[in-house]
Amino acid sequence: MDPDKLIYFDNASTTKIDDRVFDKMRIYYTEQYANASSSHAFGLSVNIEINNARKQVAKLINSKSEEIIFTSGATESINLGIKGLALSPYNTKTHLITIQTEHKAVLDTCFYLESIGFEITYLPVKENGLLDIKQLEDALTPNTFAVCIMMANNEIGTIHDIKKISKIIKPKGIYLMTDATQAVGKIPIDVKDLEIDLMFFSAHKFHGPKGVGVLYFNRDNINYDQIQPLQHGGGHENKLRSGTLNVPAIIGLGKACEIALTEIFDNQKQIKIIRDYFEDNILSINGVFINGDIEHRIHNISNICIPSIDSNVFINLLGNIAISSGSACTSEIIEPSYVLKAMNLKNEYANSSLRFSFSKYNTIEEVNHCISRIKDLVKL
Ligand SMILES: *Cc1c(COP(=O)(O)O)cnc(C)c1O
Repeated sequence: MDPDKLIYFDNASTTKIDDRVFDKMRIYYTEQYANASSSHAFGLSVNIEINNARKQVAKLINSKSEEIIFTSGATESINLGIKGLALSPYNTKTHLITIQTEHKAVLDTCFYLESIGFEITYLPVKENGLLDIKQLEDALTPNTFAVCIMMANNEIGTIHDIKKISKIIKPKGIYLMTDATQAVGKIPIDVKDLEIDLMFFSAHKFHGPKGVGVLYFNRDNINYDQIQPLQHGGGHENKLRSGTLNVPAIIGLGKACEIALTEIFDNQKQIKIIRDYFEDNILSINGVFINGDIEHRIHNISNICIPSIDSNVFINLLGNIAISSGSACTSEIIEPSYVLKAMNLKNEYANSSLRFSFSKYNTIEEVNHCISRIKDLVKL
């Protein structure tokens, strides 16, 4: 194996676009470049493709097409969903519940709401990263309008039991929101079965293009005017998200969803083999352990503690092997991951933890190369 070749184990940050997605997008830049809102034939034909993409997205999560709002990505969807519902004139309540291990996009949106008078409960998690359901039940008040809990965590991969949460809060008329950015394309999702009201995700986390995402909203429970738009303009996307549609990216997102739907089981089976092989090998190093619940997690993330190493120094030493010490958004600041801290991991262990995240493009050969490199470095 070429020692200088990039080995990419940072697929929780972003993924390589699937060639089939990229190929499909191309003509929407070069030939079919009409504005999807234009009423000439050129525009109408692009609009048909947009609606086709909407169907492909809807099919992957078992929603209706008209429940899909295209955005610039999960961060925007999260902002529009959480703030849009909170600030709607129809909402009279001011309490929202979330958890301490959410992505910054959710936490910072909640901090903002707090700064303008909302009351936010940030529930702790257990040492395995999972929520104590009893604590959620205890936190609910008559003033609670929504619960926002991620489907799969981006640092440790832990899958939260959304169905169980749903069963508790839905009979009380509380909205259920979930950031599914790490879950879409990795686990089957049925928004109707889970009774989700708002769901957020990005295309680039599952081999789609960057800069495009989805806000799913449950039309059986929420009307368009119950979400306050944050961006005003031409009234695109049912007035919820004005601005010319990013046609090539949306069509790429649709294609990525279509591929995910047909290949999810095969891909995940292959990724699990790679991840398990990786863990079997790395756990043979003295003192190494896995962070987070081993059973309830997506197959592609492995968060490993190698006691005695400094994760940031180690990442640099790994050179052409791309991994992460936590989430990319916070890794500029050298402080222990807030997710690992919320799990009560000692600072020294949190600072020695590394996130390996795999994709369908990774091979056993790459894992072998990585393991031998790590073993060499640990011996130093
Ligand atoms: C990546 C990620 C986001 C943010 O996605 P963007 O595409 O950067 O907007 C939000 N939540 C989770 C769980 C993520 O992994």
